[in-house]
Amino acid sequence: MDHEAVRAVDPAVADALEAEVERQRNSLQMIASENHVSEAVLGAQGSALTNKYAEGYPGARYYGGCEHADTVENLAIERAKELFGAEHVNVQPHSGTQANQAVYYAMLDPGDKILSLDLNHGGHLSHGHPANFTGQLYEVEQYEVDAETGYIDYDGLAEQAEAFEPDIIVSGYSAYPREIEWETIQSVADTVDALHLADIAHITGLVAAGVHDSPVGVADFVTGSTHKTIRAGRGGIVMTSEAYADDIDSAVFPGGQGGPLMHNVAGKAVGFGEALEPAFEEYAAQTVANANALGETLVDHGFSLVSGGTDNHLVLVDLRESHPDTSGGDAEDALEAADIVLNANTVPDETRSPFDPSGIRAGTPALTTRGFDEDDVRLVGELIARVVDAPEDETVRESVREDVADLCAANPLYE
Ligand SMILES: *Cc1c(COP(=O)(O)O)cnc(C)c1O
Repeated sequence: MDHEAVRAVDPAVADALEAEVERQRNSLQMIASENHVSEAVLGAQGSALTNKYAEGYPGARYYGGCEHADTVENLAIERAKELFGAEHVNVQPHSGTQANQAVYYAMLDPGDKILSLDLNHGGHLSHGHPANFTGQLYEVEQYEVDAETGYIDYDGLAEQAEAFEPDIIVSGYSAYPREIEWETIQSVADTVDALHLADIAHITGLVAAGVHDSPVGVADFVTGSTHKTIRAGRGGIVMTSEAYADDIDSAVFPGGQGGPLMHNVAGKAVGFGEALEPAFEEYAAQTVANANALGETLVDHGFSLVSGGTDNHLVLVDLRESHPDTSGGDAEDALEAADIVLNANTVPDETRSPFDPSGIRAGTPALTTRGFDEDDVRLVGELIARVVDAPEDETVRESVREDVADLCAANPLYE
């Protein structure tokens, strides 16, 4: 990876950029929300479009010179429409959170009611957490997963919706390993006359590839990130029907953002184009197969998984029974010291603090991008078990680091 232009003027930044490439190459990236984009996407993002102001939308900009910006944004929109079968797409949100912000800003007034999944049960900050603007501007109630099964408690959600009468119900989650029943949630929304926002940030790629059911055409609004299971570079997207198109567009700009990050819109165009290739379906299916193999291996080694397994790209491990003296933070630290990077995560009915919770979340999107198959991932599961079984043991870490290095060398990244 060539950072020569940066190095010529700024060796300190160039060193850090190169060190980051090396870190990604030489350790296992298992944070479930991360992935590796192609060099084509990196190239589009690192292009001269970063210089261009393009406030407005294709054909209706507030600045001159937007001809090529229009071409790029139209490609991103058309490809997203084809991928997801959406009627209307806005590719300008700077992030998934800002995609959600656009929906709330377009459809809600301060004080309106949001019903969303509890953060500790797999929800997201932008769904009404007190630390986020959503928790401060709106009235929020939260639903939960069933503590026994780990699945969304759809009956509980329906009862809660009848009592709370929300203006919007939010589905789509950050740490939920199971298929989401969009239609069930839509029928709850219909019953209580609420809007439905399906936030597919984590599973954008799985939905695009058809390996997870799609909420497009079911929910009123579908938001997503473009850098998790789809490899289109950092950013967000909103999809909706023609009926809400103008509301959403003006909530994104000028409602919540200024000029779009056109270099990132170019990244989205390239990444969506890649996702339209047949190889992407294979990638998404392999990502899910790998998460299954990882989950099975961890269960074989005595770990418990929330919901017992996975239907998607991630597993959520509850350490409380198998490793009562090891917190999620302890496990995360020990694994990072062994070159396996994932994150501590809360689990349903969390008994520790959110800053050092009882679980770890592990995903396979990035490993699958660099070529890992089920056998590789089973070995990764064994390595995770070895480290978490002996989190203080430097000899174990040392030998796991060697196995990680072999796996990385066999599956090179950014050659
Ligand atoms: C990751 C995520 C987002 C978006 O996050 P950004 O960091 O703002 O791009 C939104 N919703 C959910 C459920 C997520 O998991």
